[in-house]
Amino acid sequence: MGSALFTNWSGTAVSKPQVVAVPRNLDELQEVLTNHDRYPSPVRAAGSFHSLTACFETTGTQVLMKSFDKIEVDRASQTITVGAAVSMVKIRDALRPHGMQTEVTPEIGNATAGSVACGGTKDASIRNGLGQVASTVVGVKMVNPIGEVESITADENPDRLFEIRSSYGLLGVIFEVTFRTQPAVTLAYDYRNFRLDPPPTRAELLGGADGMLSFAQPYANRIIVERRFVVGNGEVVPSRFSRLKRRVRDKTWESGVSTLPTLLPFNWLYNAQDHSLAYQLQVLRGLGGYRGRRYDSTIDFNFKRRSFFDFSFWAIPASRWAQFAPTYRRFCEDFRRETGFRSSLPSEVYWMAQDRNSLLSPSVDEDVFTMDPVDTRPNDQLWDELNRRFNILAAGFGGRPLLNQTKHLTRELVQQTLGKDWDRFVAIRDEEDAGERLLNGYFRGLIQPNNVQT
Ligand SMILES: Cc1cc2nc3c(=O)[nH]c(=O)nc-3n(C[C@H](O)[C@H](O)[C@H](O)COP(=O)(O)OP(=O)(O)OC[C@H]3O[C@@H](n4cnc5c(N)ncnc54)[C@H](O)[C@@H]3O)c2cc1C
Repeated sequence: MGSALFTNWSGTAVSKPQVVAVPRNLDELQEVLTNHDRYPSPVRAAGSFHSLTACFETTGTQVLMKSFDKIEVDRASQTITVGAAVSMVKIRDALRPHGMQTEVTPEIGNATAGSVACGGTKDASIRNGLGQVASTVVGVKMVNPIGEVESITADENPDRLFEIRSSYGLLGVIFEVTFRTQPAVTLAYDYRNFRLDPPPTRAELLGGADGMLSFAQPYANRIIVERRFVVGNGEVVPSRFSRLKRRVRDKTWESGVSTLPTLLPFNWLYNAQDHSLAYQLQVLRGLGGYRGRRYDSTIDFNFKRRSFFDFSFWAIPASRWAQFAPTYRRFCEDFRRETGFRSSLPSEVYWMAQDRNSLLSPSVDEDVFTMDPVDTRPNDQLWDELNRRFNILAAGFGGRPLLNQTKHLTRELVQQTLGKDWDRFVAIRDEEDAGERLLNGYFRGLIQPNNVQT
């Protein structure tokens, strides 16, 4: 135990706990929750600190779940059960020899099982499939605020799991998670460019593909779509050339695109890089695109690097896309005209199917397009201001946020966008943790009036 300081990956959120607890087993974890003298409140579990907000922060006790690292694949029930500390990359690697994959395979390979089981994630839906990892969770074991162990399964306690899947560590510290799995699939990837205004329809973007991730370039009035076609099961072996092209794409996104803008933080460079990225991806298309297993989209965004980027998140109802896309472009242009600031990287646009598996799901009412502005100057004041204004715009379009990925939320915004679902969650939290054992300043700010979060 001792004083410590933790920052998130992009350096925008900080935690300064009085005590760092690293429980080695369940008894020690229960002791952390019950011994208030030794482990001051609030008790906040942390995974790999890849959240974009201060959702993990605490001035009390930071719980690191490192010792909860078991991995058990159950082929008969098509599930994998892991300790809370196990990352998405490790889950992928454990399933690979069995020809299996998780049902949702987000790019972030560092996110840990404990975090994704109770927090927001996003991935491109394949054929109306799920886009949030928590929705594929069929079992959770956790220690609640009064130190009791709760074992929750989709079969026996579906309503409870519905609450836990978007509880962000406010209802308990998770120590074990069971995910549903499925046979691995191989995807073919291809690229097309469209104008952002007037925007292409979803059908035009998809062009018959099974899923897509797009890169919106509002300052170039362009949207580049990465189409994903299912071409077979995981036994289809991509050629060496395909694997090479895949690696180039991943490296470009993991660090390539952020290196130059970090070294040369000028709008002329960002403008040039917009065009260069569109050109590079068209070259990739000209070379026949590439094939890769779906689970290969998981990337290791480690802390040892020279350039970082920061992003925010909003899920926009698909029915509002035609009005939203041109408005977003004008919003970005107007902000640049007024302040001189433009975001340095393209905004990520996932298409995710409607999903009612968690109380605070971002796609609860209908399918959504996400819009994630991305920038290489994480603590720049104008980047912060752009996101604050974007929050108001997205909320006006019926957008829904993720509390671990949407920056600068306020209680009013959360109330406006999550509405009665938020009221219900707050009521559950109030009842189960009246003593505020797990409630940190970040979430208190979203529950009480007049607070702005990082
Ligand atoms: C470069 C980068 C790329 C990203 N790409 C994607 C992406 O493609 N898709 C996507 O969905 N997200 C992406 N993210 C966001 C990231 O996946 C999420 O923020 C995720 O929650 C981070 O997981 P973590 O293990 O780091 O959790 P942390 O940030 O450490 O914690 C997140 C929350 O979970 C709680 N928590 C952690 N462990 C437990 C536990 N055992 N029990 C209870 N509560 C717990 C914490 O208290 C906190 O509230 C990306 C982030 C970065 C920095």
